[in-house]
Amino acid sequence: MKIPVHTASHSYEVIIGNRILKDAFSSLKKHIEEADRIIVFTDENVWQAQHAYFQEQFPEPFEVFVMPAGETCKSFDNYFAAQTFLLEKKSTRKTLLIALGGGAVGDLTGFAAATYMRGIPYIQVPTTILAHDSAVGGKTAINHPQGKNMVGAFYQPQAVVYDTEFLSSLSEKEMRSGMAEVIKHALISNEKWLMELLDLSSITKLSDHQLASHLKSGIEVKAKIVTEDETEQSVRKYLNFGHTYGHAIEAAAGYGGLAHGEAVMIGMVYALLLSERYSQINREFTKSFLQFAIEKGYPFEGVFNYSFDQLKDYMLKDKKAEYGVLNFVLLSKIGEPFVRSIELSECKEIDLELRELLQ
Ligand code: NAD
Ligand code: ZN
Repeated sequence: MKIPVHTASHSYEVIIGNRILKDAFSSLKKHIEEADRIIVFTDENVWQAQHAYFQEQFPEPFEVFVMPAGETCKSFDNYFAAQTFLLEKKSTRKTLLIALGGGAVGDLTGFAAATYMRGIPYIQVPTTILAHDSAVGGKTAINHPQGKNMVGAFYQPQAVVYDTEFLSSLSEKEMRSGMAEVIKHALISNEKWLMELLDLSSITKLSDHQLASHLKSGIEVKAKIVTEDETEQSVRKYLNFGHTYGHAIEAAAGYGGLAHGEAVMIGMVYALLLSERYSQINREFTKSFLQFAIEKGYPFEGVFNYSFDQLKDYMLKDKKAEYGVLNFVLLSKIGEPFVRSIELSECKEIDLELRELLQ
């Protein structure tokens, strides 16, 4: 199945399905033929778990650059190592990069591609559930010690090849993390779909069919939004639902302590509590959503490890923050997001409400 993404800078397709890697790359022959060499960027976990399948399905000759797993691959040191690798392999403007991995590998590879010789082509091959989100839309970045994703570029891939076979080796924690972003896509777009997700008895043991259908719906939401607003001037901001407080918790925990989506789930409950003050979202819904998230194993106890003052400092570093005021994505009702500036004093009240609800 193919989902088109049209942005002002570039149009491409997301090809999704099970065991489709070989066929998908045959349909991308043009990009392969134009390339003078192919370099696969991946991380040590993905390569260990999936190199046999990748090599079996990808018949072209390629070099491979295996990076440290997780956020470490988005460090300046690893970015430097990646550029050195490209130079040592005598890569040119016609070299094609393939990002085989989760969001971290995708972000690093995209940024390396955006900046090597001022831009070379790359294809995203996501291997996590979360990457149904990160691989689409062309946001690329590395982390600075002072903040996550602080150095980056909008740079679209030539294509996204999403073979759900890769998900077979994913841990339960990473499944849960990725499903949070699927749930986010439902919260900001479609009540009926959200209710189907909230009815699932397990979110980590879905059938192939269920998983593919929810991932497709998530990609469609993302594709529609980035088609309308590639560089986050308007509706793309909605994708940050749950991310202001979520990023703060993720940063306070030290990246790797909490998976990105786990932190986003906590941030979404925070955003629902805040939404209650300005919309039709009511406490009953927020409570049932929280109940669902706790039952599915999202680690809300993490909130108690940090004070609001600690989290506030991280929230103020958010790229969307203005001086002393935070811009939150809220819901007027399920499926209808909007942005509102919130004073820090109110953020503190909501933080307290969340803690009380979790007691
Ligand atoms: P990740 O890439 O760090 O992967 C999570 C872990 O799973 C890693 O340890 C990885 O090695 C392992 N892994 C990946 N695929 C596997 C597989 N198939 N089998 C076994 N292990 C596997 O993280 P993620 O959760 O995919 O993505 C998070 C990153 O994405 C963050 O850096 C975040 O900032 C970024 N992100 C970017 C965007 C965007 O629009 N660019 C959007 C959301 C998130
Ligand atoms: Zn996210």
